[in-house]
Amino acid sequence: MRMIDTHAHLDERAFDRDRALLIAQLHADETGVVTVGSALDSSRATVQLAERHRHIWATVGAHPHGAKYVTPDVLRELEDLAKSPRVVAIGEIGLDYYRDLSPRDVQRSVFAAQLELARRLELPVVLHNRQATDDLIAILRKAGRTHVGVVHSFLGDLALAEAFLSLGFYIGIGGPLTYPANAPLRDAVRRVPLERLLLETDCPYLTPVPHRGKRNEPAYIELVAAEIARVRGISIDDVARQTTANAVALFGLH
Ligand SMILES: [Zn+2]
Repeated sequence: MRMIDTHAHLDERAFDRDRALLIAQLHADETGVVTVGSALDSSRATVQLAERHRHIWATVGAHPHGAKYVTPDVLRELEDLAKSPRVVAIGEIGLDYYRDLSPRDVQRSVFAAQLELARRLELPVVLHNRQATDDLIAILRKAGRTHVGVVHSFLGDLALAEAFLSLGFYIGIGGPLTYPANAPLRDAVRRVPLERLLLETDCPYLTPVPHRGKRNEPAYIELVAAEIARVRGISIDDVARQTTANAVALFGLH
């Protein structure tokens, strides 16, 4: 696999029109995709996609936005889905205090419950963090074991990146790296070990420059890799090779 988009939402409606075409093109380009569940329905859909295509893997989980809908039954169903050999992580899970679509105490308990699920199934986690770093890190520490995983769509500076690195996490880098306003992010990407970076698109969201404003898609992973190569002063092939090795190691892709 040349590159791996470690965070896509291929199940979303934005891809209904041309999903099959896009998946065939990814195969031709030797691009692998981890397609990420965000609720029970989307987790079912991601597992189905991964079971049909060898270059697609799935994660299952409940996003903090929908935490208020997560019942013990939902958690049990996510656990059943996670037993598919094509499921490589629990996610995306975490806290979102920016949009606050679910009450914060509910977000925290649903996050903790899914960390426990990941521990039980020995799977890494895909973290979503928006303006909730202190609580997120406190819950990770309290979970009592060093969880491995990735902080997806990382948007902070070097100090925050180092906090997550010291907890054993990888840093997921996507389209926002190409946005003019994100100089502190570029500084962090320049200085974090390449062995701890993952490529992602978060498509259909967070489209990189020069396609900003249009639908994002996994093929644009190329633009993210090119920007990492540019800020670090290395070749795009070096970025591709190392980040693919990182994704294979973290998620146990095969
Ligand atoms: Zn996402």
